[in-house]
Amino acid sequence: MELTGLVGWRGMVGSVLLERMAAEGDFDLIEPLFFSTSDKGGRAPAHAKSEARLQDAYDLEALKRCRIIITAQGGDYTKDVYPRLRAAGWDGYWIDAAKTLRMQEDAVIILDPVNRAVIDAALARGVRNYIGGNCTVSCMLMGIGALFKADLVEWMTCTTYQAASGGGAQHMRELLTQYGALHAEVRDLLADPKSAILEIDRRVIERQRAMTDAETEHFGVPLGGSLIPWIDADRGDGTSLEEWKGSAETNKILGRGAGAAPAVPIDSICVRVGAMRCHSQSLTIKLKSDVPLADIEAMIAADNEWVQVVPNTRAASSHALTPVAVSGTMKIPVGRLRKLAIGADYLGAFTIGDQLLWGAAEPLRRMLRILLER
Ligand code: NAP
Repeated sequence: MELTGLVGWRGMVGSVLLERMAAEGDFDLIEPLFFSTSDKGGRAPAHAKSEARLQDAYDLEALKRCRIIITAQGGDYTKDVYPRLRAAGWDGYWIDAAKTLRMQEDAVIILDPVNRAVIDAALARGVRNYIGGNCTVSCMLMGIGALFKADLVEWMTCTTYQAASGGGAQHMRELLTQYGALHAEVRDLLADPKSAILEIDRRVIERQRAMTDAETEHFGVPLGGSLIPWIDADRGDGTSLEEWKGSAETNKILGRGAGAAPAVPIDSICVRVGAMRCHSQSLTIKLKSDVPLADIEAMIAADNEWVQVVPNTRAASSHALTPVAVSGTMKIPVGRLRKLAIGADYLGAFTIGDQLLWGAAEPLRRMLRILLER
């Protein structure tokens, strides 16, 4: 059985990855070798077989034993270990959740229900680096990839509504703690049905504005009961790194921009909202032609087994197109589909997906399967 290295399995993405690998029987096909940056020699998780002790994730000789390494350890680890491992002569397959290698020429961004042809061509060329995409981009393409495949998109703009979990476990904890603090501030007033709502509102905003550095350590500002219209680094040109990824990664996944097909112009405003898990996006799509709405819905619905077209009604949208409905599931609902008032070739849409599943863990384990099936 294929000795497969697993690094970063204890983190948020890594834990979801192990759950999915177990659910899909991936461990039946490999001999897993678990690594740790913090607990060398410790006990490997229950999925371990004959290799029951944790290996040192910085030990190049131990890593070199594996033909396939999957890492969800993070960008700093990749920056440190990956070049040294290659320099030491390792020519195995590197599957990674971190952004570090995504835009390198010798790397493919993996989302096989959308770009299996790009992956297969890369395998045939001998490419060895297969990197999971930005979570928001992957969830969006799982939803409306059909429109790109049919070359119907002239340009697109997105406004994202991204959950706290995109930042990691500590961010989720901070959000909930902030909600708790706000509730505690007005608990007595809420218990009295006759209390004045403006008094409740005043106390909440005062508490939000008085949050300490410790209470906002991870997001920098209060997120509970608020939003943050900036995600990731400031590129210095009025855009955030997250917004840049929306265009650069989408086109790379689709195999556009660098060769035959021109890049599709895409621009975004990325917003952090007080949801726990699941990234959502509101899209404006300029179509290349006036395709009937029913045809668009049928194309989207037929694209893959996870996408679900949600009827554009208040009831269906409120129930099926929310983080509450989608968290922890593989579903990719697409709704609010309608032609916009500005013209028959302008399409509005809203998509949502669990960014720890399709946005992070799932493409990694599916790439493992692709390699094992070769
Ligand atoms: P994370 O939860 O911070 O986990 C990363 C590593 O931190 C773990 O593997 C673990 O390594 C170490 N760690 C230290 N203290 C820990 C604790 N108390 N609990 C669990 N792990 C702890 O990071 P992540 O959110 O999974 O992200 C991993 C990579 O995936 C990053 O590059 C990220 O950008 C990327 N990514 C994240 C998302 C997302 O939605 N969060 C989506 C797509 C891609 P050791 O076991 O070696 O100590």
